[in-house]
Amino acid sequence: MNKDKAKEEKSLNFIEEIIEEDLRTSKHGGRVLTRFPPEPNGYLHIGHAKSICLNFGIAQKYGGKTNLRFDDTNPLTEDTEYVDSIKEDIKWLGFQWDKELYTSDYFETLYQYAVKLINDGLAYVDSSSSEEIAKAKGTPTEPGYPTPDRNRSVEENLKLFEEMRAGKYADGELVLRAKIDLANPNMHLRDPIIYRIKHANHHRTDDKWCIYPMYDFAHGQSDSIEEITHSLCTLEFVPHRPLYDWLIEKLEIFPSHQYEFARLNLSYTVMSKRRLVQLVNEHHVDSWNDPRMPTISGLRRRGYTPESIREFCSRIGVAKRENIIDVSLLEFCAREDLNKTAWRRMAVLDPVKLIITNYPEGESEILAGENNPEVEGGDGSREIPFSRELWIEREDFMVDPPKKYFRLAPGRKVRLKHAYIIECTDYKTDDKGNITEIHAEYFPNTKSGEDNSGIKAKGTMHWVSVPHAKEVEVRLYDRLFMEEDPMVHEDFKQAINPNSLHIIPKAYAEPDLENAEMGKGYQFMRIGYFTLDSKYSSKDNIVFNRTVTLRDTWSKGKNN
Ligand code: ATP
Ligand code: MG
Repeated sequence: MNKDKAKEEKSLNFIEEIIEEDLRTSKHGGRVLTRFPPEPNGYLHIGHAKSICLNFGIAQKYGGKTNLRFDDTNPLTEDTEYVDSIKEDIKWLGFQWDKELYTSDYFETLYQYAVKLINDGLAYVDSSSSEEIAKAKGTPTEPGYPTPDRNRSVEENLKLFEEMRAGKYADGELVLRAKIDLANPNMHLRDPIIYRIKHANHHRTDDKWCIYPMYDFAHGQSDSIEEITHSLCTLEFVPHRPLYDWLIEKLEIFPSHQYEFARLNLSYTVMSKRRLVQLVNEHHVDSWNDPRMPTISGLRRRGYTPESIREFCSRIGVAKRENIIDVSLLEFCAREDLNKTAWRRMAVLDPVKLIITNYPEGESEILAGENNPEVEGGDGSREIPFSRELWIEREDFMVDPPKKYFRLAPGRKVRLKHAYIIECTDYKTDDKGNITEIHAEYFPNTKSGEDNSGIKAKGTMHWVSVPHAKEVEVRLYDRLFMEEDPMVHEDFKQAINPNSLHIIPKAYAEPDLENAEMGKGYQFMRIGYFTLDSKYSSKDNIVFNRTVTLRDTWSKGKNN
């Protein structure tokens, strides 16, 4: 079965089932409007990618639209830098939102909603301290009890709430609470706080407001204002749903509905922005887009493609139960995609010199190498210079190899990729026994593509011509955490892998890599997929990041 067909036949996930049923019964007049609601307090991570692919993907599939709504109700942690990065990341992933909206644009409407609740006897201003309020809420097994302010008159509540807005009170002095049910088994319904005082500058409304709505009094209401049909969020919001519904009912506003799916958890990774910000601030990584970070910008810098991330999100699917996805699935998706698109090149990371003793000194020739043999009809080719002196990988030579070793050893033959078959004739060592030079002879009639010599070689090796080699820096990455679940430690940072970055300051690349393009993937033959580092690479100092190895070596315990 071909892949497209397999995709088509994939059964519907539970959200698609709900939507198809809603479309069938013409709920919302056949309209589908979703939203992606990030809080601009950090960079997006791969978990957000799941939510983005779901919200935008569903709307695309059913002819609907998706709003991008910045959930900016907490002035202390939010910033325009994050707004910009979030927009960039969503676009890079390949999605386009319908409207760009901000919860802060609804502050006046939300305020009026709160006034309506007060007028209807459904909200009150409480002057109790946060400790008193917490205590009076009771426990999951014991009902709560009213604080003295619960029976304040509507008039007094209106006056106090207005004064809160006008800045008459200090942070924490008063709060506005919904008046629901202090004995409800769901703690979220025990008169939740819906407004608090915060004298802080907001990234958009500046000092216009000193009271801010709580998440629960902003999120559902914003959904409603925008007439969102399907509000998709993660499972931890299940207990918030009764409050979401209660507020919509009492405010008599558009009946948006919330549906919850399992958040993405990835092995060897921490995902929450709260923790990622610690990694940045405490310099465990160089920035939010460090190639080891699970952020979208980190993955991009590492060389992941939007296609590979979307494919990953499609493969993990949407379910109602939490689980942990193996990070090697993400790596697998990168490999699959890069195999189809990355140009093949040769680079030697741990060089030792090979001299072809029967090749004329001072001469060279140009060989041709396909850019990507996986592309049907080809993807062009590049010129590769060949000469008497070559760099090869140190590990591709052994003095006394086992039988099954198909690389170079005294008296053995190998093929040099895109070039000739050679036979090793000699080698030199320093006084410590380290190999310093390898000698070989080539067979002129074995040139790749024109070889009818009948000479056989079992292995094929990559190489770079010494006089033509381009010096580049290469950065190899290992997992940032050594523990499958870094949270098993009291402090997750104890699980940090001290060797997650390995820098090779001087590797030798074939000269065409001088023309490498930012954002494009390259396969260094036999070594992995690489891309230029957007932060450190420049014309004079070319720096490559390894995106992934060619095979999954980690699970075999080799961690390279
Ligand atoms: P974090 O805990 O990392 O800060 P968050 O949920 O607070 O995440 P928001 O900016 O509020 O981050 O999230 C925007 C949207 O992305 C929400 O709808 C949220 O449910 C979703 N989301 C966040 N993390 C994940 C995840 N790991 N898997 C799936 N969806 C996620
Ligand atoms: Mg959040």
